[in-house]
Amino acid sequence: MPYPAGRHFLQIPGPTNVPDAVLRAISAPTIDHRGPDFSRLTTELLQAVRPVFGTSGPVVIYPSSGTGAWEAALVNTLSPGDRVLAFETGHFATLWRDMATNLGLEIDFVPGDWRHGVDPDAVGARLTPDTKAVCVVHNETSTGVTSRVADVRHAIDEAGHPALLLVDTVSSLGSIDYRHDEWGVDVTVSCSQKGLMLPPGLGFNAVSEKALRAAKNARLPRSYWNWEPILAANQRGFFPYTPPTNLLYGLRESLRLLTEEGLDRVFERHARHAAATRAAVRAWGLEVLCLDEREHSAALTAVLVPDGHDADKIREVILDRFNVSLGAGLGRLAGRVFRIGHLGHFNDVSLAGTLSGVQMGLELAGVPIDPAGVTAALRVLSHD
Ligand code: PLP
Repeated sequence: MPYPAGRHFLQIPGPTNVPDAVLRAISAPTIDHRGPDFSRLTTELLQAVRPVFGTSGPVVIYPSSGTGAWEAALVNTLSPGDRVLAFETGHFATLWRDMATNLGLEIDFVPGDWRHGVDPDAVGARLTPDTKAVCVVHNETSTGVTSRVADVRHAIDEAGHPALLLVDTVSSLGSIDYRHDEWGVDVTVSCSQKGLMLPPGLGFNAVSEKALRAAKNARLPRSYWNWEPILAANQRGFFPYTPPTNLLYGLRESLRLLTEEGLDRVFERHARHAAATRAAVRAWGLEVLCLDEREHSAALTAVLVPDGHDADKIREVILDRFNVSLGAGLGRLAGRVFRIGHLGHFNDVSLAGTLSGVQMGLELAGVPIDPAGVTAALRVLSHD
């Protein structure tokens, strides 16, 4: 294959494109992680990261992927045999369920069709007196469906139930409105490589007072993930182990960029790009996987391919011919959907380019579409 001139379009739903300013920040020389400059960096960051989570409480930062932050949320708050209520919204909800099972928790897993989010009405009905925690994936990256966390909180409150609420915001944080404190979330799980526009490598837990109290009695084995020594070291601006110094430089820069744009504008931008993408999909004559208008993800769109076509082959054509990476169908959706990531460092023209690559690729792969898709998206972009 000849050298692919021009920029690669990394339009998977994370890792996302990293802004040049963040790449430059990361390339600064590594400093002593026990020295005064590092202490100042951490102290500043641990405050600056809070607004993105919508919290005024502590945020624990791990050198980890999102999976590590999932484990941290469970092992810090729960004990062997504890009952957890979770919902089969898609691949990632299923993986989190599997992890909880492996850790020795008892999971009530509410079945789902991978085309809807958590049904808040099901929450009240499925809580039992011994439910200790409710786990929700805010934005199911495998399906492009966003669950209504505020309504889930409301359902738990209506039931007068004391369960902890643990929420995965891996593909929503910094892209979709999220409010840890206001929605009474106890642990918010996230990571660096999606809306925060960083490379993979940082995991996060935002932690409520109630979660901190639960951690005092939780008996699942924990060591590396234990919040306590980390929060203690953070008081002085340090970590109890060697931190990912250069990613923290990147985080400082990406938070600066998000603040400069303004979180509200960031969320509006994502919602607009999602609306334009759905306009393209419908004009092509294809189907968006998400079935509920209230649950369309602003971060990505999963597109069903017609029977007789293989979504992976379509993605292959689009990558080979146009240098655009799209997300694969995961789990039971393998080969049936492709996912267009429109999150992170992304603008109208990046979306126009991405959708043009998709439209040309669909035609080359022999999928019967109406080539009106890109025009429909451009109309949304130029008018809204
Ligand atoms: N949760 C969601 C919603 C995800 O999309 C992902 C990964 O894409 C994960 C958890 C797991 O995160 P990681 O792959 O960083 O471990």
